[in-house]
Amino acid sequence: MTPWKWTMLSDGWTAAHEAAAIAGGSWRKKVRFWATAVLLEHPSHGPVLFDTGYSSRFFSETARWPMRLYRLFTPVTLTEPRGLVELLRQRGIAASQVKHIIISHWHADHIGGLRDFPAAMLHTHRVAWDSVQGLRGVAALRKAFLPGLIPDDAASRLRWLREGDDVFGDGSLTVLELPGHATGQIGIRFTDERGQAVLLAADACWLSVAFREMRMPHPITRIIHDWASYRQSLVRLHELHRAEPRLLIVPCHCPETAARIAVPHS
Ligand SMILES: [Zn+2]
Repeated sequence: MTPWKWTMLSDGWTAAHEAAAIAGGSWRKKVRFWATAVLLEHPSHGPVLFDTGYSSRFFSETARWPMRLYRLFTPVTLTEPRGLVELLRQRGIAASQVKHIIISHWHADHIGGLRDFPAAMLHTHRVAWDSVQGLRGVAALRKAFLPGLIPDDAASRLRWLREGDDVFGDGSLTVLELPGHATGQIGIRFTDERGQAVLLAADACWLSVAFREMRMPHPITRIIHDWASYRQSLVRLHELHRAEPRLLIVPCHCPETAARIAVPHS
């Protein structure tokens, strides 16, 4: 089975109190949360994206009320205003070459770049897609969802994924359901070119210490989380970590993940 090459990319970050992200954390300490996306490369399946970062559309879509509240709650700094599409261009990959995007969930920091990839099939969990349909205004805001980020023809490019799916039919990329942070959230698992088993865990937890030590976020985040599902997904990661200590579990926003972000080619 051909392994995947993977490259961690990011076009920006926000910051949050450590105490909100993890039980027992400090309210004085702020953690920088990068919006990461992963470029997956494979000789047969081409460049595949796992999520798409913020893009500058985050700002245009939060310019007016009530969506403006989104950027007040999570002020965003863009490090690449042209977004993920530019980070790929710097690696010699044109947007038109990206034929597959796997969307972990539909929060704005994961779907900001979708409109830049008109040729891509959009792989997602059906309940994740359904959960954001028709959401506008405050109802959308409560789900960290900005409707304007969705390409106009998205519905015609969807492909459903669910637990255990073998995305390309060759066993190289498989799907895990990790709901709780968002309805229908998914992660993916693959082996990389160094033989390392990797699990991209999206936002099933914000910090790696959470799955290692089975530590939930602060209860204040119940406002955005389905608490029981969140716990189940975290238990799943914790048990996977104990059963397979060599499995690299990668939560999207953890600073340990940020340390893997590739420096752009000049
Ligand atoms: Zn996120």
